Amino acid sequence: MSDTTISDASPSEGDLPSVTAPASLTRSSATGSQTRARVAPSENAAAEETWSKTACILCENNCGVQVQLDGRRLSKIRGDKEHVRTHGYTCNKALRLDHYQNGGVRLTTPLRREIDGTYTEIDWDTALSEIGARLKRVRDEHGGSSIFFYGGGGQGNHLGGAYRGPLQHILGSKFRSNPLAQEKCGEAWVDAHLAGSHTVGDFEHAEVSMFIGKNPWQSHGVARARTVLKQIAKDPARTMIVVDPIRSETADLADIHLQVRPGTDAWCLAAMAAVIVQDDLIDHDFAHRHLRDGEKVLAALRDVDVSACAATCGIDEDVLRDTAVRIATARSLSTYEDLGVQQGPNSTLVSYLNKLIWLLTGNFAKEGAMNVHSSLAPLGAYDTELRRTPVTGTPMPAGLVPCNVIAEEILTDHPDRFRAMMIDSANPAHSLADSQRFQAALAELELVVVIDIALTETGRLADYVLPAASQFEKWEATFFDFEFPHNSFQLRAPLMDPLPGVMPEAEIYSRLFEEIAGVPRRRRAALRAAAKLGRRAFLATFIALAATDKTTMSKAPYLLYRALGPTLPHGAAQAAVLWGLCLKLFRSHPEAVKRAGHRTFNDLFDSILTERSGVVFSSDDYDASWVYGGRNERKISLDIAPLIEALTQLPDTQATFTTEEFPIVLVAGQRRSFTANTIFRDNAWRKSDTGGALRISLEDSQALGLPAGALALITTNRGSASAVVEVDDRLRSGHAALPNGFGLDLPVKDPATDTASSDGADERVGVALNMLTDAKLRDAFSATPWHKHLPARIEPAPASVPAG
Ligand code: SF4
Repeated sequence: MSDTTISDASPSEGDLPSVTAPASLTRSSATGSQTRARVAPSENAAAEETWSKTACILCENNCGVQVQLDGRRLSKIRGDKEHVRTHGYTCNKALRLDHYQNGGVRLTTPLRREIDGTYTEIDWDTALSEIGARLKRVRDEHGGSSIFFYGGGGQGNHLGGAYRGPLQHILGSKFRSNPLAQEKCGEAWVDAHLAGSHTVGDFEHAEVSMFIGKNPWQSHGVARARTVLKQIAKDPARTMIVVDPIRSETADLADIHLQVRPGTDAWCLAAMAAVIVQDDLIDHDFAHRHLRDGEKVLAALRDVDVSACAATCGIDEDVLRDTAVRIATARSLSTYEDLGVQQGPNSTLVSYLNKLIWLLTGNFAKEGAMNVHSSLAPLGAYDTELRRTPVTGTPMPAGLVPCNVIAEEILTDHPDRFRAMMIDSANPAHSLADSQRFQAALAELELVVVIDIALTETGRLADYVLPAASQFEKWEATFFDFEFPHNSFQLRAPLMDPLPGVMPEAEIYSRLFEEIAGVPRRRRAALRAAAKLGRRAFLATFIALAATDKTTMSKAPYLLYRALGPTLPHGAAQAAVLWGLCLKLFRSHPEAVKRAGHRTFNDLFDSILTERSGVVFSSDDYDASWVYGGRNERKISLDIAPLIEALTQLPDTQATFTTEEFPIVLVAGQRRSFTANTIFRDNAWRKSDTGGALRISLEDSQALGLPAGALALITTNRGSASAVVEVDDRLRSGHAALPNGFGLDLPVKDPATDTASSDGADERVGVALNMLTDAKLRDAFSATPWHKHLPARIEPAPASVPAG
């Protein structure tokens, strides 16, 4: 059992008061003096010396941490050694989490934008009733498909988004998206064709590890990344390969660094895959037993001109050949492709070539290799046949509208265009390509609703902004459960009571559902009565209702929240949806759950509710990789016709996108020691690189007349920005980088009140990257943006230009 304490702050139906807060923009108080608790204070808050368990919310690793509170301040933070996955590990960023909880200016009452652009504070009942009426109007006039849902959680908060489904269903909304649709969708489509679902590497055990456009030292993605990287580097029997134009911190530890020319990863990987085929390094035993439909792709790889590919990517041919041999002769290989390639040219082809390399060398469904894992709630659909968007007809890998076409789906007179947008825990006006155009698209919509803890750049363009509880004020979790063969999940208890006036997303979605659909009183009453009798009675009643009313399943999260939620201990109503997910997992993979120590799905659910350091929910042997991917016949088809065509076209494919006007390749969004996503709305969290420097090579610094500390003007085909130069010998000439997470418009605080100043002034530090990016620069298959490959011009900034 954990040592954490649990708040009973979670609301059940009807216990939230209507709020008309006098000041909606409130800097969170460290003492809590502004925030009279609306329920009994949590034990966490009362016991100052208590270490309470939670997780870091800054990247998908969600390292388990322990926190000591001083009032509402996260005064001490350390790794949680009992955490089932991260075992006490954290990077430097976790220690700065108080800046998320207390650094920014919080929103504590719903806002409605008036015709003159100003905001009026309104109470919750008014806000939800007006939004419900307007959503119904859009649905009735234009159809439910015109209502588009975006977001649903970032790096730490997916639990609230799990309650979105019933609202979306009752509205008839069919389209949604989130930031994964500007990163991982091409890979998801390739995974869907090959292994059948999301694949992960086993870097703890791999003899050879290959990171492609990935710097785990800074961007993590591998549990206990820095520890694992150091272990690999220390072991002479293991090899680390890094494919990256930048000599990253991970490349410093690598045995082989393939420092490709920016944007030529496809040629590099095609050459290595070709060597494996041409030199007969294929694992024939694995291929015979498990691969099929390989004729066309093998023929295409036999035709690849390795020398020409080496020349294009700028890597010595012998090095490429030796690397391919090292991979093919290893006992095991794990690979990780990430945004360095997934947000660059030919990203879906790169994904295909990466996976061909590990499949042809027999590195699937075994220790140290690539595997498909279990999931409590998959984050995307793994379909090979793709739905298309309503206006542009763009394919939707993972079932998500590609972020780069959203504006095009709005800025048109097409009758099927999106007319309304519900945005939850996401900031697309800042984080999607071509901010100017995306902001223009938001302005065209009949209704924009934003759910967030602060008034973000997107919230400022919304018709309504609904204030959510922070991630440390409610029950939370992510569905980044990507481990194999032992997969785990952590439900986080609130560390403190919510600020008065905010709501958890589960309550917001449920109330909006009731505004649209009305309260399903008969079903809810039957389920509530059954829940009081126990889980067995609840399950029987739920099954009976589902058998007689086909709409029951589409309302399941709502019904669970309203009926089962109030019976859960310590006010954990927001966790009710997990009961359904545990049931679903147990029904499909009972032995895996039992091997993890849970006799029934209710046992698993109870463990999740009580174990604060996380729970292993499935344990498998490696053969299960075939099952989770739906490859029960243990065969993988290698044939993805459009990508084989792209491979054969590679000799004629454009490899350089810089021009005389824009001669530099700009990385828009480099991960650094003090970068994070934009949930930190407080610039003071950074200990170094506080202004977000532009990194350029020494050669470019000298050629451009931009020494360290000079102010550079960066111009692309979409806009200009300025940043202070840092000379970085990790970069090759012609390559430059700006960090992610900067350029937010943050309210200037009044030092006397520690709240937003009354004149509404903002300050912006660093470059808002998407003022420079171009939504048209995107992958041919998945439409993922080229944020890491942006042609740009860099020059000394005129004296009149300020930084930013
Ligand atoms: S790796 Fe660092 S940023 Fe990521 S979750 Fe862990 S502590 Fe947070």
